[in-house]
Amino acid sequence: MVDSDPRRSIPRTDRLLAMPEVIAAGEHLNQTTIKAIIAEVQSAARSGEIPVAEVTPTIVSRLGSRSASSLIPVLNATGILVHTNLGRAPLSPAATQAITEAAGYVDVEMDLDSGRRSKRGTGAKAALLRACPAAEDALVVNNGAAALLLAVTALRGSTSANVASANPGAERQCTGATPSEIIVSRGELIEIGAGFRLTDLMTTTGARLREVGTTNRTHLADYAEAIGPDTSCLLKVHTSNFRVEGFTASADVGQLRTLADEHDLPLIVDLGSGLFTPDPSLPDEPDIDTALRAGADLVIVSGDKLLGGPQAGLILGRTEAVQTVAKHPLARALRTDKLTLAALEATITHTANPIHDALHTDPVHLRERTETLAEAVGAAVVDHDGRVGGGGAPGVPLPGCAVELPEECAQALRLGDPAIVARVHQGRCLIDLRCVPESEDQRVAAAIGKVLTSNHLGDHA
Ligand SMILES: *Cc1c(COP(=O)(O)O)cnc(C)c1O
Repeated sequence: MVDSDPRRSIPRTDRLLAMPEVIAAGEHLNQTTIKAIIAEVQSAARSGEIPVAEVTPTIVSRLGSRSASSLIPVLNATGILVHTNLGRAPLSPAATQAITEAAGYVDVEMDLDSGRRSKRGTGAKAALLRACPAAEDALVVNNGAAALLLAVTALRGSTSANVASANPGAERQCTGATPSEIIVSRGELIEIGAGFRLTDLMTTTGARLREVGTTNRTHLADYAEAIGPDTSCLLKVHTSNFRVEGFTASADVGQLRTLADEHDLPLIVDLGSGLFTPDPSLPDEPDIDTALRAGADLVIVSGDKLLGGPQAGLILGRTEAVQTVAKHPLARALRTDKLTLAALEATITHTANPIHDALHTDPVHLRERTETLAEAVGAAVVDHDGRVGGGGAPGVPLPGCAVELPEECAQALRLGDPAIVARVHQGRCLIDLRCVPESEDQRVAAAIGKVLTSNHLGDHA
């Protein structure tokens, strides 16, 4: 009996749009958004997810609670500092403020004194150079992948000797031979995540990769043998998300510099994560300063990994090499926006930094917080290692602890308010407070308490 189906009485869109309560609740939203929310709720009623009587109140409530963006802020209770699925680095208060201030009109490309056009990104660049005295010049682009793409493309045909010339590309074209071979160790050709392979990125530029050595061992002689007339640069890549252990060998930046000099080739070093200087707590993680002092022409890092800033690709190095890269037409396509420049400068110039804090958490204090939480929710504390994540310090544990909950809690916590993303591991849901601001501890306890209670009720039903 189709006609008695209550779903037939779902209010029509035009009627809903005319309801005073719908109009009032949707005052801050445009028609497209309001109609989309109405359609969403009507469809939920049609499929029986909500009763027909709930259609109007649900629409009113969704219109009222619709935030500016559909991105939901989450508390990262995984213990993974740079969590790519959660937007990598959380910005510092200073960086957050800088973004708000730069949101309107700003002097990003104007000298307010003369009223003339000025260079973009000078503040961020100056901050980078102060943080990295070994760098002569710097350029900020959209992300690490863009930085690598740009560097290998722009330095093609630019030997160390001619990177300074005004138009090296043209010079090469006259002779009809733009060198196109990037020499890189077979052990460093990595896939970063979500199927993103550095190899594919570089070959889209028309470059060819000349892989040298083996997966576990590459010697300086392997690079030397591969160098030929078609070689465009030597590239060294931080393996980021994996480690080769055991019988291994690789050429370091200093050795590669010597070889590059012998053949007049540029040397590019992609470090992935972005430490400015060595961090004693991550002894094996390479840093920009050391790589530049060892002789890299260009060093590439991401802004939103260990550096703890916004998404960005930082290119630092010798003046001629950076200028060659900055002048390449691709640089315009990969440039970064004013919000990123503002946040990056603030990240570099201010001390407070959530990634840095999470990395250097006092273990005693972390345990105290964890015990307080465990007590509040009636659960146990277990040892748990945090991780840098985002390809930084692969395999290096950050010893700490977590509150152990039943695995079923994980989804309910993700869907709660606040949304909490826990680590699901070996059939357990682990709450690691390392990356959770301490000011949120009570909200976390309340959210867990709620989930445990409703789970419990479920058991008795
Ligand atoms: C992460 C990473 C990249 C890509 O950087 P994005 O900022 O994610 O684009 C490139 N190279 C290495 C070695 C990396 O670890």
